[in-house]
Amino acid sequence: MPAGPMVFVDIDTQRDFLEESGALYVPGSREIVANLARLTRLAAERGIRVVATACRHTLADAELSEFPPHCLAGTEGQRRAEATECPDSVILGPDERLEGPLPRHLTLQKRVFDVFSRPDAGELLARYNEEMPTFVVYGVATDYCVRAAVEGLLARGCRVAVIVDAVRAIDPEAEASLLDDWVRRGVLLVMTDVVCKAGELSS
Ligand SMILES: [Zn+2]
Repeated sequence: MPAGPMVFVDIDTQRDFLEESGALYVPGSREIVANLARLTRLAAERGIRVVATACRHTLADAELSEFPPHCLAGTEGQRRAEATECPDSVILGPDERLEGPLPRHLTLQKRVFDVFSRPDAGELLARYNEEMPTFVVYGVATDYCVRAAVEGLLARGCRVAVIVDAVRAIDPEAEASLLDDWVRRGVLLVMTDVVCKAGELSS
């Protein structure tokens, strides 16, 4: 891990994606839950900032013509998994905007899988980027929401690391070539252990 501050980017670790009974279970994602919990604990203990994203749909959303209904507002499936839940997160609905300073844990809800579909996302991420941190990305699914976040961060000149043992794809075969492509574009691939060691050494 490069020295310096980290911002964790926790993508869509919601019950509908991470639980086998969920509406859009991402295959194999149960295997990353322990790592997600470690990262969440580390961030809370060390005061590492977390930007968490979350689908929050209504049946009228265009995305649901491409994917089965998932993360419907007000359902259990829309809630964050226990591993990444943060009781004092500042949660912004799709049309809400942040007022005041950046909180320790921010949840950005969205109607489209790409978090940068939120009109305020670019400006918010630019505020996080003022300290030139490494944006450390994890969650699901590598080939959709994670991809959109990683590529959106790269397009905005951010330094990005992806935790390979804390992401999972809907199409596992697509994951390897995506990771290859990201490395060519300057993304650092890391493991949960390495991030946790770096986090314990910092502060
Ligand atoms: Zn969605």
